[in-house]
Amino acid sequence: MNKETVELKPCPFCGGKAEIEVDGMFRWVECKNEHCGASGKVFSFLVDAGNANNIVANNWNIRPIEDALRDRAEKAERELADVQEISEGGEIQKSFDRVEFNRLLEKYDALKGDNNETA
Ligand SMILES: [Zn+2]
Repeated sequence: MNKETVELKPCPFCGGKAEIEVDGMFRWVECKNEHCGASGKVFSFLVDAGNANNIVANNWNIRPIEDALRDRAEKAERELADVQEISEGGEIQKSFDRVEFNRLLEKYDALKGDNNETA
């Protein structure tokens, strides 16, 4: 039925597989996890110009919060890598703020955990 091949990101709520549903002129993306049932915006197409599935999929695939978290996690990983590089180099100073290091580490773990759940 769907001539176009489009890629859909997993459901943002449960990580389940999502599929495009079609009912007459209406199209939307729906999570196929029966315990979730999340769905995206319902689009109506009087005529499919050949890009209907792309429009529906692009709407479903927008993830601003996920993208922002990923950026923050990558930044925290870079910061942690810098800290580890300093400490492994034996250049760690007595004045180094251990509390600050632990705070960064907790932040890093939290962001990493968030990313794993949504991946
Ligand atoms: Zn779901």
